[in-house]
Amino acid sequence: MIDVTLIGTGGMLPLPERWLTSLWLEYNGKACLTDCGEGTQIAIAQHKLKLSHLDTILITHTHADHISGLPGLLLSLGNCGKTDILKIYGYKGIVRTIHSLLCICPVLPFEIEIIELPHNETSSFIWNDIVVSSMPLDHSIDCFGYSFILNRKPVFAPDKAKALGIDVKYWKMLHSGNSVTINNNIITPDMVTAESRSPIKVCYITDTRYFDNLADFARDSDLLICEGMYGDDEYIEKMREKGHMVFSQSGKLAVNSNSKKLWLTHYSPALSNPQEYEEFVRNIFSETVVSDDGQSITLK
Ligand SMILES: [Zn+2]
Ligand SMILES: [Zn+2]
Repeated sequence: MIDVTLIGTGGMLPLPERWLTSLWLEYNGKACLTDCGEGTQIAIAQHKLKLSHLDTILITHTHADHISGLPGLLLSLGNCGKTDILKIYGYKGIVRTIHSLLCICPVLPFEIEIIELPHNETSSFIWNDIVVSSMPLDHSIDCFGYSFILNRKPVFAPDKAKALGIDVKYWKMLHSGNSVTINNNIITPDMVTAESRSPIKVCYITDTRYFDNLADFARDSDLLICEGMYGDDEYIEKMREKGHMVFSQSGKLAVNSNSKKLWLTHYSPALSNPQEYEEFVRNIFSETVVSDDGQSITLK
């Protein structure tokens, strides 16, 4: 199961009651943070997330509201005793940006590996058994959306194993996908498992204009986390010029991608009560939540 927490929901600058948009994803005792704007480490502490679990950071783009909190977070990681490697992924040029930020935290007790993902194309890597994919978005500078897919093992069927006379000591090995040979008979995993299970998919899309291929990237998400600067459609054109979306476009994306849930985030600081637009977006996509900071879910 994957624990997902939306650490903040703001765009552009942190507010007293709204931290900047950032995602905490935890699986198997390890955590991956996506984006780290000013104050993100305070929000992590407020939501009682364990910084010591963090081993990977993804950066969508190098606008300050998505990266300027990094030096403070790295110093706090050092203070909490981290000594193992931290990986940071981002767009072409992220190495230079992070080295600039590291000027103010030059001595850290852990190694940092910075990985520039392939430019202008979708690519994937594995983090903690989860397939992480990056997709170029359409913002005012280079920016990635990220998806996280956990492929799940089929359910183990003890009745099948018992019927075949397989000793319990082999069950775990078989459920892990390995065949075993017992009395010269080869037992394959499919002989002792029941129905297959669909993967768990989380998709994080900010900052971007709406474009049709977004739906393919977000296809069949269990949880789509997507930006919306304003709730009112009168801002569509102005936001398009700035490289952003409004709530109704995010709702449309959730419909077009066949997503199961939508969490809106990255609100303009000028939007004082985003929740007042929740019913409006639910008329487009019924499973919409106009998120608050700390919105969380466990996906099983
Ligand atoms: Zn932003
Ligand atoms: Zn931006």
